[in-house]
Amino acid sequence: MGKQYSFVQDGDRFVLSINNHEEIVSALAAFCQDQGILCGEVSGLGAVNTATLRFLDPATKKYVDKTFDEQMEISSLVGNISEKDGDVYLHVHVNLGRSDYSVVGGHLLCATINGACELVVTRFHCTAGRRPDEETGLNLYDF
Ligand code: FE
Repeated sequence: MGKQYSFVQDGDRFVLSINNHEEIVSALAAFCQDQGILCGEVSGLGAVNTATLRFLDPATKKYVDKTFDEQMEISSLVGNISEKDGDVYLHVHVNLGRSDYSVVGGHLLCATINGACELVVTRFHCTAGRRPDEETGLNLYDF
C-alpha cells in the first residue's frame, strides 16, 4: 500500500501533506509511527467533507460523538503526540469553518480530506506517556 502522505524534514520539524481523500487522524498516526515520533506537537489547516467530533460530558463521563457531513475548512488544527502502550497516541482538536462562515469545533475523532491537509509536526526528545484517570475519564499525560 502506498503512503498516505508526503513530507520534507528540517531537523526535528516535518512539513507534512496528507493525501486527498485520506482520513487525517489515521494518516497522522501512521506518519508518526513511521518516523518514530512518540512525543511532539502538530498544527495545520486544510479542508474536509466529513468530520466526527467528540464531546466528553464531565458530569456523566460519557462521550458524545457527532458527525458533520459537509464541506468544511480546517481553520485550525492543533494537537499533541504522545505514547500509550508503545503506540503513538494522538490528541487533536479542530475548528471547522462551514460554508456560512460559522465554525464547529472540538476533539477530532476522524475526518476525511477533501482538498488538502497541510501540517507541521515537531518532534520532541523526551517521552510522554498516558494513563487512564478515573476522576476525569481522560487518558492524562503520565510523566
Ligand atoms: Fe480532546
